[in-house]
Amino acid sequence: MGPGGACWRGGGVPRGLKRWLSSSAPAPRVCVVGSGPAGFYTAQHILKHHGGARVDIFEKLPVPFGLVRFGVAPDHPEVKSYGAEDNRVLGIPGENLSGVYSARAFVGWYNGLPENRDLKPDLSCETALILGHGNVALDIARILLSPLHLLRKTDITDGSLAALACSKVKRVWLVGRRGPLQVAFTIKELREMINLPGARPVLNPADFTGLENAIKDAPRPRKRLTELMIKTALEKPGVKPMEAQAAAPREWGLKFQRSPQEVLPTADGRRARGIRLALTRLEGWGDSAKAIPTGDVEEVECGLVLSSIGYRILPLDPAVPFDTQRGVIPNSSGRVEGVPGLYCSGWVKRGPTGVIITTMNDSFDTAHSVLEDLQGGVLDMSTSREGFGAVESILRSRGVRPVSFSDWEKIDAAEVARGKAAGKPREKIVDPQEMLQLIGH
Ligand code: NAP
Repeated sequence: MGPGGACWRGGGVPRGLKRWLSSSAPAPRVCVVGSGPAGFYTAQHILKHHGGARVDIFEKLPVPFGLVRFGVAPDHPEVKSYGAEDNRVLGIPGENLSGVYSARAFVGWYNGLPENRDLKPDLSCETALILGHGNVALDIARILLSPLHLLRKTDITDGSLAALACSKVKRVWLVGRRGPLQVAFTIKELREMINLPGARPVLNPADFTGLENAIKDAPRPRKRLTELMIKTALEKPGVKPMEAQAAAPREWGLKFQRSPQEVLPTADGRRARGIRLALTRLEGWGDSAKAIPTGDVEEVECGLVLSSIGYRILPLDPAVPFDTQRGVIPNSSGRVEGVPGLYCSGWVKRGPTGVIITTMNDSFDTAHSVLEDLQGGVLDMSTSREGFGAVESILRSRGVRPVSFSDWEKIDAAEVARGKAAGKPREKIVDPQEMLQLIGH
């Protein structure tokens, strides 16, 4: 934990305390690393069901909540939660050109993640292209095309709002390597995009030929999602509610069966001017269909390329087992294989998929394993552990001052006060040094 690290403690609630006090074993000390939704939900469940437990939550940043603060789109305050340490790389030529960004960095930038605060994405082009058909891709498209007055009311950072105010982007392509039946985004997010004021959906009806029949027996969510795409593709401008959309100054569209092959450079070789896509055909059916290149290619002009092809979990520490193939910690119901007493939850447990509710249930499952092991005597509880007390003395000996929860509350109050002046829920502080100064560190 660096100088900006934080630790929060939660005491047990009275329920269950009686049973605990009657036992002679010391109170269990639980250490949770990471204060995102998975960390908090796990802690909550343990505290709720074990009156005697003490939980310390550690975080590397001076502010808590991980994905809820830094991942969820600012115009989605009702969902406020995804997190992983890295993005998947495309592995194609031109990926490092200026004008090419990972979704993770871009999302971090507009959400005030300290490490991405200086991203300064170049928004001077008219066409942006997002690789991937997931919800993150839709989040980014929406932020790029949303009218400013809608974004102003959110907790999007001032810096990104200023950059978006000067943005020339008026067209966004979302490109998937497979077809409409394999998109990874969900209906709520798609509907929101379709209804985005000032932006017109451009879907090619030919992409949906024959799909109405094909989805007859598909699971209901997939069926409804496909029906919405078909309906949108077939709606003609001038037919309500498309009337208003027809005059929209901005547009977005879905391109299917196109796999990224190369980001094309400008004549001086410095920045992106377009992308070459390999056309694909599908082999197999449904979710498991595979995209196979046909040999044909297509070039699309765009000055901004955002790669939104999913997140990647990085190994945490050599002492923690890691399955590099699957990008997860090998575990069974959260119990880390081969390391008794170590548990995992969240994306590191199951991979970078799912919405907050998935993480909540999954964290409860891990907490349940902890409780079961405590009760079943699997964990060595014979001696009392100091928990944060021990860590604090190590930190003190190294001259490190951790940020406490009440310190965070001061940062929180300052952010809310700054936001109030601008009519926003908060103005996030993006510089950790400034956060530390604010709490007198
Ligand atoms: P995702 O849902 O896994 O989507 C990734 C997309 O990238 C897929 O379309 C995938 O296509 C494509 N892709 C992967 N590798 C590729 C490659 N090498 N070349 C081309 N395309 C590639 O990931 P995500 O959008 O990052 O979202 C992560 C999780 O967070 C999801 O569970 C999502 O639902 C959730 N989330 C939820 C919300 C919300 O609730 N509002 C918002 C944001 C994110 P294939 O299917 O062909 O692999």
